[in-house]
Amino acid sequence: MKFIYSIVCCFLFQTAFAQDYSDKITLVIHGGAGTITRANMTPEKEKAYREALNTALQKGYAILKKGGTSLQAVEAAIMVMEDSPLFNAGKGAVFTNEGKNELDAAIMEGNTLKAGAIAGVTTIKNPIRGAIAVMEKSPHVLMAGKGADQFAKEQGLEIVDPAYFYTEARFKALQKAKEQEKIELDHSENKKEIKKAPKTGYSKDEDLIFTEGKKFGTVGCVALDKFGNLTAGTSTGGMTNKKYGRVGDAPIIGAGTYANNTTCAVSATGHGEFFIRSVVAYDISSLMEYKGLTVKEAADEVVMKKLVERGGEGGVIALDRNGNIAMPFNSEGMYRGFIKSDGKGEVMIYKDEK
Ligand code: ASP
Repeated sequence: MKFIYSIVCCFLFQTAFAQDYSDKITLVIHGGAGTITRANMTPEKEKAYREALNTALQKGYAILKKGGTSLQAVEAAIMVMEDSPLFNAGKGAVFTNEGKNELDAAIMEGNTLKAGAIAGVTTIKNPIRGAIAVMEKSPHVLMAGKGADQFAKEQGLEIVDPAYFYTEARFKALQKAKEQEKIELDHSENKKEIKKAPKTGYSKDEDLIFTEGKKFGTVGCVALDKFGNLTAGTSTGGMTNKKYGRVGDAPIIGAGTYANNTTCAVSATGHGEFFIRSVVAYDISSLMEYKGLTVKEAADEVVMKKLVERGGEGGVIALDRNGNIAMPFNSEGMYRGFIKSDGKGEVMIYKDEK
């Protein structure tokens, strides 16, 4: 009896004194970074991207506003972008060198530090749900390939034929990348390009993967809910012309995805190999934890300094527990947007949009 009494007291105490973060709820998304300029955009394409980003923001925000968790909001926002052929995640994912779509995704909760990820899956319609299933329904953090596809099926997730992920635009991009590969090998002028790559930069192979307009269409979302909990999620098809079995930074906890309530939630997009080697997301969190940097200072330090010095192109979205946002990128553009507790937000694409 005494025991039950103390549990009830403890619960009432916690409820009475738990901080309410309702006025801080925030959701931030990205739809990839790269050579995205006004010059290579059409008004129709721009409109379509802005609309899709807005839909993702609204979907996630509606959940937060109703008192849902940041995990539910991140899942919903990412699913909108996975279902849109505009982004390199889910439907519209890029092709491997073998002409397949191999998808990676990850999720991490800032309050429990629980995480789940999948890599190289080919049949899960919404890879972010596969990552969440790994976190919630398995004792593991990262599952890959056939086993991960099988696990998702057993968990009752929607399974599709690999052909579902096909889009003509991405298939053409693969052909272009392959042609350029030939050109790169055949013409001295392009060989010079390779030599110009940053010091720690691309190997010849990486450079060849990288030729397709340098666009990274990965999607990601970070959110803060009314309970003060942060969540980060990322989903991607990886990089056009990647080798079979190649896994990028998105499903690597600490590289492309990380969340910790005491620091921040981060989702990245860019040339994955560089993001893995620089442990980007965890580095941003660590700069906050050990050096006391703000989320903006920490994200800028890693994306605009360290990554630039190392030749790693891309960007991140980051969010702290007070609703402070950072969205730095060292590429020409990054599809991105945020929405705050008052429902006001913005969608941006280019460098000059602040
Ligand atoms: N980071 C992803 C990868 O390397 C690519 C992207 O951001 O689009 O797999």
